[in-house]
Amino acid sequence: MFHNFLCPQCGYKAQVNGGVDRCDPLTFETMVCADCSQLVDALVEIRPRWLHRQKNGKGGYKTKKQCVVFCPKCNGIHLIPWGQHSPCPKCSGEMTTEKAVRYLE
Ligand SMILES: [Zn+2]
Ligand SMILES: [Zn+2]
Repeated sequence: MFHNFLCPQCGYKAQVNGGVDRCDPLTFETMVCADCSQLVDALVEIRPRWLHRQKNGKGGYKTKKQCVVFCPKCNGIHLIPWGQHSPCPKCSGEMTTEKAVRYLE
């Protein structure tokens, strides 16, 4: 589920999840890329299907595959998890969703 985040201070806009999005067997998480200063949904985990099936048995997710997290825009690997209340990656201002902005108007 995408949200439109925007920074009223500098006008930066990003369409990202704003958190962790599990979409088996893939998990995406919203991150700030320190290389290009963009908000991106980066692929953080891949679960092979057979591991998913073991969830109900003894196996659990112990052997889940953690992949190298990289920026889908610039392929940088310096990513920092970003939550809905984290600051703007461009100016450190407070970000808001477009919905919230409409609500305030
Ligand atoms: Zn990047
Ligand atoms: Zn900003």
